[in-house]
Amino acid sequence: MRHIYSFSFILVFLTCHNTWSQFTLPKLNYSYEALEPSIDSLTMSIHYGKHHQTYVNNLNKAVVGIHADSSSLISLMLHVSKRSEAIRNNGGGHYNHSLFWEILSPKKNTKPSDELSKAIQENFVNLDSLKKMVNQAASTRFGSGWAWVIVTPDKKLAVCSTPNQDNPLMDISKMRGIPILAIDVWEHAYYLKYQNKRVDYLGAIWNVIDWEVISKKYAEALVDPLLPHLKRKL
Ligand code: MN
Repeated sequence: MRHIYSFSFILVFLTCHNTWSQFTLPKLNYSYEALEPSIDSLTMSIHYGKHHQTYVNNLNKAVVGIHADSSSLISLMLHVSKRSEAIRNNGGGHYNHSLFWEILSPKKNTKPSDELSKAIQENFVNLDSLKKMVNQAASTRFGSGWAWVIVTPDKKLAVCSTPNQDNPLMDISKMRGIPILAIDVWEHAYYLKYQNKRVDYLGAIWNVIDWEVISKKYAEALVDPLLPHLKRKL
């Protein structure tokens, strides 16, 4: 009899526990000071500890009641047109910043892998012209948003930008693909140190970009089963 009760309890638990665990702030792999002088410590602490944390908190509130099958952050992004504004803004905010922290690093002189270098040469001639294109996309983004390097569904590299906290995984995005590099151009990303000089921030950020991480992301994106599906609106 006791076994039957236990079994029923587990069933009820599984049925009711049909939501996901809470989204959390990812761990930073370096200290707030580590990216100085390109990104100052105060900006890092507020950007990561306050802005990103707020996106996470608001995302956790926004997903209450959504079925667990569609719970992953990626899945929320892919079907964002069917979700609330709060999920679009805070889910995008969580995804975008998580990628941003990951592709930054205090390591000096990291280099793209041979595979990524070859793709950069094929698509942009060289690394400098890629940086120029990203900076062009980032500096002409009016107001708040992001600049991206993505792997497109036909496995090419492309540069694009999105407004607010949108990203190229979203089904509402004009250009779609798997992001491997993200640059935050919201004023909160640079204003304390660079004030209105977004171009100076964009000049400095390349000192702290981790090409080893980006190379790994490139290799993973090429074989990601999600990639072909980004061709059409999901
Ligand atoms: Mn930001």
